[in-house]
Amino acid sequence: MTGQIKTRFAPSPTGFLHVGGIRTALYNYLFAKQHGGKFILRIEDTDRARLVEGAEENIVGTLKDFGLDFDEGPNRQSENLEKYKKLAEELVSKGLAYADEGAIRFKMPNEGTIEFTDIIRGKIEIENKLQEDFVILKSDGYPTYNLAHLVDDHETGVTHVIRGEEFISSMPKYIALHRAFGWELPQYAHLPLLLNSKRAKLSKREGDVAVKDFLEQGYLKEAIINFVALLGWHPSQSDRELFSLEDLIKEFRLEDVQKAGAVFDLQKLDWMNGEYIRKTSPRKILELVRPNNKYIDDQLDDMIKNKPAFLSDEKIEQIIALEQPRLKKLSEIGDKIDFFFRTPEYDKELLRWKTMTDDEIKKSLNSAIQILQEVSEKNFTKEELEKLLLKKAEEIGDRGTLLWPLRTALSGKKASPGPFEIMDILGKEETLLRLNKALL
Ligand code: GLU
Repeated sequence: MTGQIKTRFAPSPTGFLHVGGIRTALYNYLFAKQHGGKFILRIEDTDRARLVEGAEENIVGTLKDFGLDFDEGPNRQSENLEKYKKLAEELVSKGLAYADEGAIRFKMPNEGTIEFTDIIRGKIEIENKLQEDFVILKSDGYPTYNLAHLVDDHETGVTHVIRGEEFISSMPKYIALHRAFGWELPQYAHLPLLLNSKRAKLSKREGDVAVKDFLEQGYLKEAIINFVALLGWHPSQSDRELFSLEDLIKEFRLEDVQKAGAVFDLQKLDWMNGEYIRKTSPRKILELVRPNNKYIDDQLDDMIKNKPAFLSDEKIEQIIALEQPRLKKLSEIGDKIDFFFRTPEYDKELLRWKTMTDDEIKKSLNSAIQILQEVSEKNFTKEELEKLLLKKAEEIGDRGTLLWPLRTALSGKKASPGPFEIMDILGKEETLLRLNKALL
């Protein structure tokens, strides 16, 4: 290939950027970047009835947010109406198009077949006779997608058109128009559809939602990009699944994109998000969850900022580190860390291990209190407490008899990190306060 590679992402501003859209944008971006080429953003806003307010801002903002920086654009088609009109009229004057109730229609050759090579699908042949004459300029003066997209691709020097497979069936139209203008065809790569687990078209409920909704639910950008990259592509020589944007620029191969529909698996996204959450430092996680209090309530946010007396910055990071392995989405964080900051409210039944009686629960909590009172502040560490309490628990026989009431009295939760980690963070005073409260 001679000359510079240029790709484009050409969304219509008819809604917020969805998963399918960001995948198309990503593949175009990756392909351009890995070849030292340019990536253009073009806004296809010629269907005036379907424009949605705020859609362009959302598309531009999301691409920037995800680091998919474009080198040119946003180019708006609505700002170039004269150009399309002139070209459409040129075709009329050559006898290749005609006026039809205020619109201009292109005369579609209806014999023979067209043939082109798709980078992903190989040679494709379609019969022209399935096509009818089609409108290229509407009576409102706006061009149709059929005309406008290829005029822009040509004029901006796009070398590779990477887009959804729904455009394949119209390729005879595009090829005929290129011939009419005497232009060379760019290269094409048509991406596979996104499917649900039953291999049907993806619905909103199954994940075909705006990218912004994924962010709001607590998915990390890095995880979304990684997940989206694998919707139709994976490396041909390995099972590797985790890729940063930079890795993807190096590793992505357009010719390895699959033809078959790509199954969208929300569970995989959750798994991947968990992986990225674990790779993120506790400090960074705090930064991500605190602005706008998106994932935690105002009171908890204030507590993180002002810190209860028994919690230092270091301890707060320790709390995050402790919960990190169990987080799938940032939105789960409030529920998980809450009890460290606020004395938990819970039903006393929670303290019961198996068939323990109320007296046995009190006895168990009292023996824990007795042991803990003897431990100095300095020795109030996970290791030290574990040693002492496990010894006692072994003496009793069933460990749960000592450890379950202890852990639930501290956390107010059925599931939480273990009692030793919790006590290490809460410190002696707060630990004893909570255990004594459980006795009331
Ligand atoms: N505006 C079209 C869309 O949003 C773009 C198709 C293309 O990339 O050519 O689907």
